[in-house]
Amino acid sequence: MKSHLLALALCAGSLGTAHAQQTGKPEDTEVYEPVPAVVMPGKTSSDAPSDALVLFDGKNLDQWVSTDTRTPAKWNVAGGVLTVNKAVGNIETKRSFGSYQLHLEWRVPANITGTGQGRGNSGLFLASTGKGDLGYELQILDMYQNKTYVNGMAGSIYKQVIPLANPARKPGEWQTYDVVWTAPVFGANGAVVTPAYATVFFNGVLVQNHTALTGPTQYIGKASYQQAHGPSPIKLQAHGDKSEPLSFRNIWIRELPATK
Ligand code: MG
Repeated sequence: MKSHLLALALCAGSLGTAHAQQTGKPEDTEVYEPVPAVVMPGKTSSDAPSDALVLFDGKNLDQWVSTDTRTPAKWNVAGGVLTVNKAVGNIETKRSFGSYQLHLEWRVPANITGTGQGRGNSGLFLASTGKGDLGYELQILDMYQNKTYVNGMAGSIYKQVIPLANPARKPGEWQTYDVVWTAPVFGANGAVVTPAYATVFFNGVLVQNHTALTGPTQYIGKASYQQAHGPSPIKLQAHGDKSEPLSFRNIWIRELPATK
């Protein structure tokens, strides 16, 4: 009997709370501004939406330079496809970006040779912070029945964060990366205030879920934020291994508002 009374009292109490939350009108919580911009989506998820900046449309490398010399990029463009020229080294965008959404497609050649990190290695540097391999690398690697350390797999934030899955396709097939990059924010004293974040879909499968980065990629040792930086180019890696070079196509970007 006592417990029955208690249950009644609890029930009355929760009803009272629910009633309090429903005072006012539905219109009180309807918002009309700011109105999101109209964007025409691409015909497929590979195609650039109307507000995207196309970084590679299959025709030329007008948007790209060699990382180390900032002279015109000299990778090979043929048949709508961009192929790494290992002799030239890394290339990066002329323009710099803060936070963005990016789409990129990559293909390991069907006749790929080598093993581990020496088999179809490239990389998408989400922000290039200097020459060579300086920056934050989202690894690109042949991941089809190819073993390596798991924080160096395709879809990893190289040497930092293991991907959530391995959805790699076979060599010879096109693979997609769709990335949301939130640029790190640095204070006036140069110290990091909020880290960089990366969300990555690899062939449509989530492999990095709003991952906080501990700093730019470090080949040896732990990554940390050593130096403040602003908007940065996006870089593609010409890896020094001896396996056959990778190709790219359909690269586009949508800039996002700065993090507050
Ligand atoms: Mg790499």
